[in-house]
Amino acid sequence: MLSIQDLLALLDHWPLWKRIKESPDRLDALEKLIADLEAKLAPATGEVCPKCRTPTFHVVSNRPMPNLEWSGKSLDTWRCDTCGHTMEKRHPD
Ligand SMILES: [Zn+2]
Repeated sequence: MLSIQDLLALLDHWPLWKRIKESPDRLDALEKLIADLEAKLAPATGEVCPKCRTPTFHVVSNRPMPNLEWSGKSLDTWRCDTCGHTMEKRHPD
C-alpha cells in the first residue's frame, strides 16, 4: 500500500505537479501585482505623463497658435500634477 510520502514522491515525477505546488505563491504574487497596479491607477485624472508615466497629465491652458492667430489653430499647455512636467501641444482640430 502507498503511503502519503510515496504518493507525493510519485507526484514529483509529474511535470504539472511542480506548477500546481507553486500556484499559491504565484497567486499571491499576482494579487500583489494587481493591487499595486490598481493603486497606481487610482489617482488617474488625465493622460499618462510622457516623463513619469503617471496618469495625471492634463491641459491647464490654451492659447492661439503664434503667427497663425487668424487660422483658429491653438496650442494647449499640458502639465503633470505628479512631476510638474509641462509641454505644449497643438490643440486637436
Ligand atoms: Zn509626470
